[in-house]
Parts: sequence; C-alpha cells; structure tokens
Amino acid sequence: MLPAYHNEPFTDFSKPENEAAFRAALDKVRSESGQVYPLVIGGEQTTLPDTFASINPARPDEALAYFANGTAAHADQAVKVANAAFQSWQFTPVDERVRYVLRAAAAMRRRRHEFSAMMVLEAGKSWYEADLDTSEAIDFLEYYARQMLRLHDASHLLYPYTGEQVSLLYIPLGVGAVISPWNFPNAIAIGMISAALVAGNTVVFKPAEQTPWIGYKLCELFWQQGIPDGVLNYLTGPGEVVGAAMVDHPGTRFIAFTGSKDVGIQIYEHAAKVHKGQRWLKRSILEMGGKDPVVVDETAGIEEAAQGIVAGAFTYQGQKCSAGSRAILVNDLYDNVTNRVVEIASKLTVGDPSEGPQVYMGPVIDQDSFNKINYYMEVGTQEGKLLLGGHPIETPSGGYFIPPTIFGDAAANSRIATEEIFGPVLTIVRSNSWEQALDIANSTEYGLTGAFFSNDRARIEQARKTFHVGNLYFNRKCTGAFVGVQPFGGFNMSGTDTKAGGPDYLLQFMQAKTISERL
Ligand code: NAD
Repeated sequence: MLPAYHNEPFTDFSKPENEAAFRAALDKVRSESGQVYPLVIGGEQTTLPDTFASINPARPDEALAYFANGTAAHADQAVKVANAAFQSWQFTPVDERVRYVLRAAAAMRRRRHEFSAMMVLEAGKSWYEADLDTSEAIDFLEYYARQMLRLHDASHLLYPYTGEQVSLLYIPLGVGAVISPWNFPNAIAIGMISAALVAGNTVVFKPAEQTPWIGYKLCELFWQQGIPDGVLNYLTGPGEVVGAAMVDHPGTRFIAFTGSKDVGIQIYEHAAKVHKGQRWLKRSILEMGGKDPVVVDETAGIEEAAQGIVAGAFTYQGQKCSAGSRAILVNDLYDNVTNRVVEIASKLTVGDPSEGPQVYMGPVIDQDSFNKINYYMEVGTQEGKLLLGGHPIETPSGGYFIPPTIFGDAAANSRIATEEIFGPVLTIVRSNSWEQALDIANSTEYGLTGAFFSNDRARIEQARKTFHVGNLYFNRKCTGAFVGVQPFGGFNMSGTDTKAGGPDYLLQFMQAKTISERL
C-alpha cells in the first residue's frame, strides 16, 4: 500500500534556513566540478580521450565537468548490451521495478538541493526554476510508479467468456533510446527514463550536450538503488552522431525524444525505416517545440493578464516549450496591457543565478542559442516595434545574458510571431476581435500550450472547443503544468501528444498481450 500521490512542494527560499541549505548545496556541487565522466554501458565505465566540457552559461570560462565524445560504435554497443539486459529485466516483477523507481524518488528528495544547484550552474536556472524542475522530477517518479501498478494488468476491463480464463497484460517493448533536451534536464530526462524502466524496458540514455552533468547524476540515482547492469546505460556525445545511431539501430524498439521540431521530424523519418535485422516497427514518442499564444480579450482583467503574460514569457529566460512567447491582444485593451507588461518586465532582474534567489532570469543556455536569439531580435526590429530590451547584456564574465525583450505591433504571420525563438523574446500582436485573436492563436504549425484571459463565459466555452492546443489555460499563465494534474503534450508540430504526467503516458512504453486459457 502506497501513500496517495501528491505533487512535491516547492522550497520557500524566503526562509533563511532554506537559503542557507541551498547555498551549501551550490558550494558542494561546485567543489565537485572539473571531473571527467565516463560512458556507462552495462555497468562498465569507459573514459575516452576525446571529451567535451559542460560549461556554466553565466560564466563560460567555468568548465563544470568533462564528458566522453561517444561514437556510433558506442551506441551500437549500448543497444546490444541493453537488449541483453532486457531478456531478464522484462520479467522482473512489476512491484520490484516500482520499488527501484520509488527509492530513486526518495533519494532525490533527500538530495533535492544538490540536483537543483547543479541546474543553476549547468543550465542557468534561477533557484526557483531549478527547484521546480527537481520537484517535477520527483513527481514523475512517484506518479509513474503508481500508474504502473494500476495499468499492468487490465484483465478486469475484459468481459468474461464461459469456459476460458482471459487476461489482458501490458508488457514492455524492448530497448528504448531516450534522448532529452537541456531545458528541463532533470524532470524531462527522469520522466522519460522512469516511464521506460518501470514499464519493464531497458534504456540507452543520451542527455543533451549542454547538460550531461545532471544527466549523469540522475542515472547514478538508479544505479545506486542496485538496478541491474545494462538496464540503464549512459551515453554522451553529439546528438547527430550518438543520438542518430541510437535511433537508426535495428535493436532499438522505441525512441522517447523531447526536443526541437527539426530534430523530432528527423527522428520520426529515421525511425520509420526498417533496417536489416530489425524485427519490429519502432515506436516514436516525440515531444517538440511551441509558439504558445496568450490571448487577452476586452473583458479580461488587465493586471491579471499582464502578470500572466510576463510569467509565461520570461521565466527561465523564455526557454520553455510552454513559454507564452506570443501575446494576442484585442484593440480595446492593447495599450493598457502592453504598457503594463513592459512595466513589469522592465523590473525583472537578470544575472548570475548562483548569486541568490533574487535573480529572476539567468543566462540563455549557450553561444548558439545566444546567437540565434540575437538574430531574431534583429528580425524583430524590422517586423515589429521594439518596446523593451533588444540587445544582449555585456558582463565581465562573458555570460550569455539577454534581457526581457518585447516587440509590439507585429503581424500575425511575421517570423517573430510564428517561429520558436526559445529565449526571452515576447511578440505582441494586435487583433480586432476575440474571434480573430483565437484564429491567430491557432494559425501557427504548433499547438502546445495556450492561455485565454477573458471574463465572458460564452467565449470561454467557445475557446474550450476551438483553441487547438494540448494544454489550454483560462485566466492564468500558460506554463507550469503539474504532473498528474495537467498531463502535458502538444498537437501538430508540437509532437505526438503523448501527455507526459498523464494516465495514458505509460501505455506508449508497452504493448498489450491478450491471453486466453481453456479451462
Ligand atoms: P534539440 O532538438 O536540439 O536536442 C534535443 C536532443 O536531441 C539532444 O539530446 C540532442 O543531442 C539530440 N539530437 C540532436 N540531433 C539529433 C539527431 N540527429 N538524432 C538524434 N538525436 C539528436 O533540442 P534542445 O535544444 O535540447 O531543446 C529545446 C527544444 O526542446 C525546444 O524546441 C523546446 O520547445 C523543446 N522542448 C519540448 C518539450 C515538450 O514537452 N514538448 C519540452 C522541453 C523542450
């Protein structure tokens, strides 16, 4: 009997003891930086002479750790080892698999500040955002463990047949290639890994190149619980080399990927090809990008809408797939809402998040991202009216700092209003009516999250039906879905809508077997 599931509470950093504990965790993980980490395949550690550094984006000179540049040959070896481990892991009793996952949750809870502190350093998260990421990671572990107990035997849903005993069991698929992004380096990675493992699959895990450090630490959590060798393998290296080889491998049974649209599409195509020796059609679980709209009509509360827009656009520097990067405001309150949004955003603090909980926005993740966002800020000056920010912040540390940036009066079909920038850039679009605003909201190729601020009941009911996004919010920000409460995933080019943190998610990692025995 397990205690009831609940979301993991966040840390209150206004309490001096919490702030002190977090500073101690930052000191601890910083003191452990500079190490070289191996690949881990079948429990064996392989250190390679060819390495890459994971850096602190607030201080690019600070190398946090070094990681092996794995190759396609390592991917081949890892998939083979994972296949060998699958032969026994698939028959491990469900309650035993569940216990590994719950023990990992307990271990992460005990060391939660350490995990969060690593994200402050490696991913440039504010304390609050890092803490939220860790809470979500713990939620995924607790939630999927319970879902597996509920799902694995579905025989009670069958109708009886006289003279036969019938069963419906969900059994695992095989080896999963788990490929994660850097923006939720703890929660998303652990969500995909734990779902795969608890369902009885074995995993080859490749973290994003920007966040392999936290990726290693979260694998350690499972290894430290005594999970058998080969069940969870850790592979680092360039996505287009190692990740691609994992996807193409005939021994890979499924791919669980979260990342950009372009890479997701590429994986979808590659996974569809049947390679020599392959005995199944691969399953692809792909969660991708967004250009998430926040619609405000003339009946909405101005303050409420402005606060929601700012929080959705700028927390974690706008680097969330759920970020509300487009605000669509009807004419009547366009100026009032825009002015208030600019006013609130202009007061947000930007800096090195390791300095303290008062830093609201840290750096963007790396040089490539910094360049891309700068490029879009240039595009923005041609396509809209620059209302705030627009230029990077120069600091002695050379960190990748970009201030909250807002463009107003952009056309609904402009690039800054339709393409995912993945940085602290908000585009505001004017609309003549709430109906037109909803049409604009639905007009991009994405369909991940969306928010509608309105006090008109009929419009809200209409938007429930026609606002075409996987996660729809009324009168609140469009980020911050809770595991088990708001299952998360998007439509169209935002992915396969597998709804992480929802009651159906684990079914993606399993296949159903019907068994009938004549009595
Ligand atoms: P990315 O697509 O660049 O990389 C994601 C992962 O794919 C990394 O591990 C990378 O190494 C790997 N990869 C790269 N090329 C590959 C290839 N050819 N074959 C196999 N793997 C390859 O994305 P990112 O920059 O790490 O993350 C940001 C993106 O993720 C944004 O677009 C964001 O919207 C999206 N995202 C979506 C969700 C969601 O739930 N829908 C959640 C978080 C992030």
